[in-house]
Amino acid sequence: MNTTATPMTARVFCIANQKGGVGKTTTTINLAAGLAKHKQRVLLIDLDPQGNSTMGSGIDKSTLAHNLYQVLIGEATIQEAVVASESGGYDVLPSNRELSGAEIDLVGMEDRELQLKQAIAKVQLQYDFVLIDCPPTLSLLTLNGLAAAHGVIIPMQCEYFALEGLSDLVNTIKRVHRNINPELSLIGLLRVMFDPRVTLQQQVSAQLETHFGDKVFKTVIPRNVRLAEAPSHGMPGVVYDPTSRGAQAYIAFGAEVIDRVRTGQK
Ligand code: ATP
Ligand code: MG
Repeated sequence: MNTTATPMTARVFCIANQKGGVGKTTTTINLAAGLAKHKQRVLLIDLDPQGNSTMGSGIDKSTLAHNLYQVLIGEATIQEAVVASESGGYDVLPSNRELSGAEIDLVGMEDRELQLKQAIAKVQLQYDFVLIDCPPTLSLLTLNGLAAAHGVIIPMQCEYFALEGLSDLVNTIKRVHRNINPELSLIGLLRVMFDPRVTLQQQVSAQLETHFGDKVFKTVIPRNVRLAEAPSHGMPGVVYDPTSRGAQAYIAFGAEVIDRVRTGQK
């Protein structure tokens, strides 16, 4: 396979799940930091007006000179808006609640679902990975993320209703693949906040493996309080306490993602 003849452009992955609080932001921040530890050049895009991955990367969302909203509506370039996460070792295209206005402003625009893709195209040679932290909705913002991405990583908790919500997201991915972005595919399902002592979680985890086979990442992220504490210190868990079980799992996950890209599984 020829992987070196053309200039390498970034692999663009959405971290998405329309369910709230399932670990999207924690996964995006720690995968970004994990990939950075593996010497990858990473841009994290905060596509959520909550601005959690901005803050969790140590960037104050209330004092931004520019943010993703202005990039999407053409008032700033992506180069103007990107800032470095000193703690994380990666770059961030930050957001705050201004971004919620984009839902309305984009509607009247031509190619409204392609604004993020067009912005990323301007910096794609500068990074190995672009990770997009999606909001807990299937909105126009999320659509911009899916239209810009090569693939989707779905973090999920192994709970009773997890599989049910998954089919909506998988159908959305198929629809976007068909109509807007033929490059888009499901990269994999990541089991997060996992507690092996809970029998139900083991059962759901086994069900996932049966249904989705090697689309389920081998790495499992444990429930680990250090990962939850880290954002209040403005840093990824991977940096805050690198020896913690949660950090080690995300570093291993970074290696698995790099491996999947190299072996062409995506
Ligand atoms: P939203 O849908 O609101 O954007 P989210 O899917 O991005 O939420 P997170 O914010 O990453 O979810 O996580 C929800 C909560 O769970 C946070 O308080 C976070 O610190 C905690 N959390 C996430 N992953 C873990 C983990 N592996 N162990 C312990 N706590 C975790
Ligand atoms: Mg989030």
